Amino acid sequence: MNQRLPVSGAQGDLLRLVATGRAESRADLARLSGLAASSVSLRVEELISLGLLGEEGSGTSRGGRRPRRLRLSPSAGVLAVADLGAHHARLGLLDLSGAPLVIEERPCEIARGPEATLDLLSDAFDELLAVHVPDDVPLRGVGTGIPGPVDPATSRVVTPSRMPGWNGFPVAEHLGLRYDLPILVENDANLMAAGEARHWPGCDNLMVLKAGTGIGCGVIVNGHLHRGRGAAGDISHVRVRSDSSVLCACGHPDCLEAYASGAALMSALADSGITVARPADIVSLVDDAIPEATSLVRGAGRRIGEVLTVLVNFFNPDVIAVGGSLSAAEPLITSIRAAVYERCLPLATRDLEIAPARAGRDAALLGAGALLLEAALV
Ligand SMILES: [Zn+2]
Repeated sequence: MNQRLPVSGAQGDLLRLVATGRAESRADLARLSGLAASSVSLRVEELISLGLLGEEGSGTSRGGRRPRRLRLSPSAGVLAVADLGAHHARLGLLDLSGAPLVIEERPCEIARGPEATLDLLSDAFDELLAVHVPDDVPLRGVGTGIPGPVDPATSRVVTPSRMPGWNGFPVAEHLGLRYDLPILVENDANLMAAGEARHWPGCDNLMVLKAGTGIGCGVIVNGHLHRGRGAAGDISHVRVRSDSSVLCACGHPDCLEAYASGAALMSALADSGITVARPADIVSLVDDAIPEATSLVRGAGRRIGEVLTVLVNFFNPDVIAVGGSLSAAEPLITSIRAAVYERCLPLATRDLEIAPARAGRDAALLGAGALLLEAALV
């Protein structure tokens, strides 16, 4: 059944202002939308009668002058969102204001290929919907993050590393067979950036680094996710200076990812006789003051910082937020900071903040919710 939101144009704009928390009253809506108060009231009444908006306090006190508070109706719908990793999927349901209803993590091997992975995802969504959402509350959109490049024009995965069988796969089309809804397929670092951006009020230009098994970066320009033609922010295959030569999964020598990704650090640790299963284990080793791990993380931070130096001079962001499972290793951010401050122009770093990401481990899911709402309200 098609459950597209029955709104568009100005009505959609008003609903989005309430959903994102920017407007709480009819007066806010009039001020922010530029519409006349009478037009706002007319459209708000329509949205209420469609069951999408509710107005707290209406009908109880007629004497007060306090404006009645608008909110999205809890029965207006839910969004199903996921963030696929190499070995697990984090997934859940959000209400239309982006607040999580349920979020959980399930084992999921992305190397099993797109059909098996996406079917596992859809089954998990259906289970969560059955348990956590009443029958009369519709699903309004489905979105997933992919740990590889995604072409925004076709929603296909393009030459991803460590994802056999995924190249060229029509992810959105496949999910569309099951859900006749707005479907969002996006690079995971882009989703993380979209979620993180909401936690930096007053900062419109951000680079959000994801340091996990791979290295990704999402770019927010003037408050909006910048996709380019799909590869924007992909810093993993920038060539770094090195005395030795390491072949990257992309076939070129000396990419940043071949030296500074969690996968590269795990393989370097294995060469020293230390076996770890995932990047988070490297963080534990650093916390336990294992010198090989600390030295490797410090080196990774320095190399990432050297690549960022060029980008900071060029793009001059307000913030570099560092997230992903490796970011909990303290020497990573310290080394990134040292490299950037040493080499960048003073004007570029004067007000630059290089800090741990604020949105937490669900940043990508929250970003998926924000972007899906945009898609559902077009
Ligand atoms: Zn490469």
